[in-house]
Amino acid sequence: MQISSLFSKGKTVFSLEIFPPKRSNGGINTIYKTLDGLSEVKPDFISCTYGAGGNIADLSTVEICSIIKEKYDIIPLAHLTCVNSVKSDIDYILSSLKDKGIENILALRGDKNPDLEPKNDFHYAYELIQYIKKDWDFNISSVCYPECHPECDSLYDDIMHLKTKVNEGAEHLISQLFFDNRCFYDFVEKARLAGINVPIEAGIMPIVNKSQIERMVSLCGASIPPKFSKMMSRFGNNPEAIRDAGIAYAIDQIVDLITNGVDGIHLYTMNNPYVAKRIFNAINNLR
Ligand code: FAD
Repeated sequence: MQISSLFSKGKTVFSLEIFPPKRSNGGINTIYKTLDGLSEVKPDFISCTYGAGGNIADLSTVEICSIIKEKYDIIPLAHLTCVNSVKSDIDYILSSLKDKGIENILALRGDKNPDLEPKNDFHYAYELIQYIKKDWDFNISSVCYPECHPECDSLYDDIMHLKTKVNEGAEHLISQLFFDNRCFYDFVEKARLAGINVPIEAGIMPIVNKSQIERMVSLCGASIPPKFSKMMSRFGNNPEAIRDAGIAYAIDQIVDLITNGVDGIHLYTMNNPYVAKRIFNAINNLR
């Protein structure tokens, strides 16, 4: 089933994101435990990140998406980055996805790997979307940044670049994480004014430990509302308290987003079913 068609059903779409487990953590086999737990949440779809930074196309995302589809009967969304790949790598992944009957791709640029020789086949995500659309019939999703992509000088320019991705064929967007819903509402308003009319899911990351907040904020530059920083300083040294406060904060964000008519909620699960289940149990009747 095509992900973009989920949004015409008049309810808030609820999706989850996982990543392929590292080999040092038991490898792909450990994903069953994660998915056993997450499938209880009955998400509309599950996306799986793509981590290949080298020149060999990595099939773990394809394998995990196939497990999501075949064993759990849930729609998979396969992330795919392009900046560190040449066209033949992308062709290999696309035909592997096709062979497994996977219909949905989250098309991304990815981050350049400073340790690798730059590849010049793709520079931006819109080129990947163009490339896929030329010869394949995948349903394409893409990503957006409520507080602007860190490499872009203005939100206006970033939204214009986003519009290119939609014009090239992205039919659904997932946002970068944010902790201040007002940033998301302002962004959606600007995107709509710019003529971007595809569904925009809000990316929510429950912060459940102190190191996660430091890492996430330095990576994506999300602004921190005073309520959130107070919470961190009050509970930051108590692991159970910070976990419960982080879950409560995410639930609060989600309730507000659903109340305000968001198209969908995309939960960054960090492969943690316990957290996803607690959040889901709190908002299930709101979907
Ligand atoms: P683009 O849309 O290409 O944008 C990148 C930058 O280029 C932006 O600043 C944009 O404004 C600018 N730009 C775009 N077009 C032009 C143009 N024509 N001229 C000038 N500037 C332009 N990374 C992974 O490696 N694997 C994953 O699985 C993954 N999943 C993600 C999931 C989500 C929901 C999000 C939000 C991010 C994810 N990322 C992932 C991270 C992402 O790859 C990085 O944020 C990357 O830096 C940008 O990717 P993009 O697809 O947004 O790029």
